[in-house]
Amino acid sequence: NTEEPWRPFNRSRIYMADLESAMHYSLRVELAAHTLIRGEELSSLRKYISVLTKFFPGRLVVMNLLKSVNTRLQNHTGNEMSYETFREWLDNEDQSLDTALPEGERWVGCQGSVPHLRRYPCGIWTLFHVLTVQAKNTGGTDPQEVLSAMRNYVHSFFGCRDCAEHFQTMATESLSEVNTFSAAVLWLWSRHNRVNNRVAGALSEDPNFPKIQWPSPEMCPGCHSLKENGEHRWVQDQVLPFLLAHFSSSSILTDYLE
Ligand code: FAD
Repeated sequence: NTEEPWRPFNRSRIYMADLESAMHYSLRVELAAHTLIRGEELSSLRKYISVLTKFFPGRLVVMNLLKSVNTRLQNHTGNEMSYETFREWLDNEDQSLDTALPEGERWVGCQGSVPHLRRYPCGIWTLFHVLTVQAKNTGGTDPQEVLSAMRNYVHSFFGCRDCAEHFQTMATESLSEVNTFSAAVLWLWSRHNRVNNRVAGALSEDPNFPKIQWPSPEMCPGCHSLKENGEHRWVQDQVLPFLLAHFSSSSILTDYLE
């Protein structure tokens, strides 16, 4: 809807409305392109819903819905299912009222200056950064779990196929080296910066949200330093706590939720 009013927001914070919108879009729009979900796609969907159920720091109604969908999906035997069945589980029409994934997109920190920019791709990056941080904070058992769920989701379903291919290449190169939860948080941050670097100046860049090597020195002065030869160097000892704080569940703002 091009007539949506602009929602003022703080650029250095993250918003639950973006995370819920990203889930809505991935589960009700992106997945809907796959009438029949089978084989590798079905296992990607299972892993995605499973990490969301474990680590998404969501509202109770949303967590209830994720749990119910997760149980049904894990119990679903067989190698395929129709999107229609999945969609019925998601919309959950015959169950109690305290179980729902809100319908519709309500972008806040991921608003673009025009409707075809930012939004879902911004939302799904943010969602997975939050999940890597939550896996660290809530004691997951497998440090690669979130990243491998993201890799599989992107590979099976992400609408931008070029993006999916690039992401797959980066994952194949180095995902197996991730052995700790901190390394997983830093891996996604550094790969996201590689993408920022690659796509800076492209048509997909919102001029009001230029691609930078993130976080900027304004957001995290201690994250940046210079080598003796004057080259930029990240101070990872500072970047990690910055990411843990920025994406922690307690810093997610709930403005603009229904
Ligand atoms: P985004 O890059 O979407 O970032 C969202 C927000 O995350 C930013 O506003 C910022 O607050 C924060 N952020 C920025 N950098 C980092 C970081 N390093 N670590 C943590 N947080 C950060 N587009 C292409 O044109 N070509 C591609 O090959 C491509 N590959 C993609 C691969 C994946 C897996 C995904 C999810 C998206 C890809 N995209 C690609 C889309 C592109 O990366 C952006 O998502 C899109 O252009 C919207 O940009 P944005 O300005 O909203 O910021």
